[in-house]
Amino acid sequence: VYLLGIDTSCDDTGVGVVALTASGPEVRANVVWSQTVHAEYGGVMPELASREHVERIDQLLPQALAEASIELADLGAVAATSGPGLMGALLVGLMYGKGLAQALTVPFYAVHHLEGHVYAAATEENLAPPYLALVVSGGHTHLFDVPTQGEYHLVGATRDDAVGEAFDKVARLAGLGYPGGPAISAAAERGDPLAIPFKPPLQGQAGFEFSFSGLKTAALLAHQRGASAEDLAASFQRAAVRALVGTSVRAAEAYGRETLVVSGGVAANRELRAAFAQTGLRVAFPAGGLNTDNGAMIALAGAAALQARQTSSDLGVSAAAYVPLAPLPGGSAAAAR
Ligand code: ATP
Ligand code: FE
Repeated sequence: VYLLGIDTSCDDTGVGVVALTASGPEVRANVVWSQTVHAEYGGVMPELASREHVERIDQLLPQALAEASIELADLGAVAATSGPGLMGALLVGLMYGKGLAQALTVPFYAVHHLEGHVYAAATEENLAPPYLALVVSGGHTHLFDVPTQGEYHLVGATRDDAVGEAFDKVARLAGLGYPGGPAISAAAERGDPLAIPFKPPLQGQAGFEFSFSGLKTAALLAHQRGASAEDLAASFQRAAVRALVGTSVRAAEAYGRETLVVSGGVAANRELRAAFAQTGLRVAFPAGGLNTDNGAMIALAGAAALQARQTSSDLGVSAAAYVPLAPLPGGSAAAAR
């Protein structure tokens, strides 16, 4: 069975194809159009993002099918992100996916964007729950306990900025460009991680929360005092990585989990991967191209739902800009972004 996956949650148009084989799901195509129109504004312009998705998605579909060497009629299911994300942007991919599924008379799966990120890493090593899942991206720094397939309990999240957002902001103040994650990572290789003694946030405290706005402010102060961009990048990256790894390891102990899935754009970070490799935990990361937003990860999440014989989504399903993967205790829906 071939599944198509579509993600248009933010400023990347992603279309991917996954094949469900006897040995498990395999990514057969992953085409992503990363929008560049936002660069001159210094942030994502929602209306422009929606228009770009509309313009690109028709071209990406045949590209993805060609990359997978299949025809449209070979598709056995379609999955698309229904949230969270930018409302107008989400609607483009969701409506496209629903329309396609209906035209092909195949099942449709609405996928939570974060579940897509988690599956991007879990599938890499054919991992099945139980595990802890750390999603580190531009909008999220969320740690979930995943006892069984499709069940998510929020262990901890950021109190303020997402870690990817902090990478982007520190890169910007240091004049390193956008997107900030790869820029910080590259500059850090030429810097001294011990040059500026940033404290990894919230370490030595109880609980499993994260916080990056204080670290960001500390980086701004160091910059104003004349720290080099390279030293700033290396020292900031070290502190951020230590906070992520330290809290995740404590949570793994507390929840009795030996496996950790790390995903989202920041999971591409080499220092982060190296630090997690030293923890003694079994840690899975997404393969190349599956860290940042893409359609293949949405197809992987759809494949998991299909394999688990979950019923397909109602075609009346709508997009939701804010929707938590795991409801907060007490039923509040405020955990999403
Ligand atoms: P969300 O998934 O929360 O809605 P998003 O989809 O915008 O957010 P992703 O595409 O998953 O986020 O990730 C983008 C983020 O990852 C950016 O903040 C970017 O700076 C960061 N990032 C990418 N590569 C690296 C890297 N090598 N090191 C650190 N951060 C990185
Ligand atoms: Fe994302």
